Amino acid sequence: MNKTKIIATIGPSSKNKETLKEMFLNGMNVIRLNLSHSTHDFSRQIIKNVREINKELNVHIGIMMDLTGPDIRVGSFKNGKAKLNKGSKVKIYMADIEGDETKFSVSYPNLINDIKCNDCVKLDDGKIELVVLDKNSEYLLCEVKNNGVVKNHKSLNVPGIKFSRSFLSPKDIEDINFANEMDIDFLSLSYVGCHQDILEVRKMLKDLNNDHIQLIAKIENENSLDDIDEIIRVCDGVMVARGDLGVEIPMERVPGIQKMLITKCHTAGKISIVATEMLASMENVIRPTRAEVSDVANAVLDGADTIMLSGETTIGKYPVETINMMSRIASVAETDINYLDLLDKTMRTEKQDITGSISYSVVECANRLKCSAIIATTKTGYTARKISRFRPNCPIIALTPNERTIRALTLSFGIYGKFVDEMQNFDDIMKNAYKVSKEKLNLGSGDKIIITGGYPLEIVKSTNFMKIDQL
Ligand code: PGA
Ligand code: MN
Repeated sequence: MNKTKIIATIGPSSKNKETLKEMFLNGMNVIRLNLSHSTHDFSRQIIKNVREINKELNVHIGIMMDLTGPDIRVGSFKNGKAKLNKGSKVKIYMADIEGDETKFSVSYPNLINDIKCNDCVKLDDGKIELVVLDKNSEYLLCEVKNNGVVKNHKSLNVPGIKFSRSFLSPKDIEDINFANEMDIDFLSLSYVGCHQDILEVRKMLKDLNNDHIQLIAKIENENSLDDIDEIIRVCDGVMVARGDLGVEIPMERVPGIQKMLITKCHTAGKISIVATEMLASMENVIRPTRAEVSDVANAVLDGADTIMLSGETTIGKYPVETINMMSRIASVAETDINYLDLLDKTMRTEKQDITGSISYSVVECANRLKCSAIIATTKTGYTARKISRFRPNCPIIALTPNERTIRALTLSFGIYGKFVDEMQNFDDIMKNAYKVSKEKLNLGSGDKIIITGGYPLEIVKSTNFMKIDQL
């Protein structure tokens, strides 16, 4: 049972129920529906498949939806594409026109007001660069900096731009309503620029009476880095969105930023997700490069909660094999994590309260005694998350009478939820702990476990007891 969680983005390669089931059986914990590409009908069908699998296997695959956010795309071209030549001039029109080698249109008409002369414009994930020479009310005049072919609706980035539009587009608002309707677990927000963007989504969810969807801030530009501490404070987790981040800022800065973000999240007790191109070559071939293996392992060693697959599982040839490979790499890398060091570091940033102290002691004992599991009773997931932050060497089983809590924990390092009926007393807790040890974890005579939680149930709000047991 891995502690590092895996998100797989779903697309044509992975949409069938049988494939989804195989993906789960090989280590996928959460599916991601990227609403920039997936229609509501497609997403609805996938969610139906996932919920059926959850029922059939008695498991809890989490569901994430990814908002398009304030992205900009180029319009369409005659013949679907155009070759741009180094040194030539190209006009970017705000009105919808058919593009060719000399002109094309853009999906965000106000770009003309937000952009300045000499700004850099990057097309198709940075494959082609333009620089703005001049502008008037109709178009931007740009010079092409390198040769390349641009196709219909490819991405357009302007590093450092501050948008005058509001964070949520009409499409995003529709998508949030859809996410609420589908009762999903995580919403990832593309191109977050500042913490107010997250609060805007939070407010909309609150107005919908939705208090449970967790918000993941995708860090993919310089603006979000400028406000990172506040962003981490108000979100539930952060995604190191290396795809767009590597276009918006020099890509050689991404590895250092990845480490910085993971550490900040860990300190703040928030989820960290490392995303994009982790096993990219497996889109086409069945074996990854050694560099990719290293990349996955290093994300685990950096302390990420979750690692993510995108193209590998949406359009790749080997979605199941890729998850299997990712899971194997994470499993071995986890044996190399310096758990002692993480425990120590976490303690230094922990509040000196009862829950913090008990959680620390639980993990310290679990590591010292080589316990096979920590079993935590939890309603909201708070206790389990606290323990996860100290990074125990063994899995954390969250016993909870709340299905939603189980799904909410699917991205957190080391935590697996187990549904139990409402517990009345200490006997119930112990009975459930033994049951899950045997049935879910296959533990037997001699194995040590730690049981923890808040007692009396319903009365105390903090985590206040721990019991060490040898089966
Ligand atoms: P995307 O986000 O796959 O939705 O673009 C991740 C990234 O940019 O890395
Ligand atoms: Mn992105």
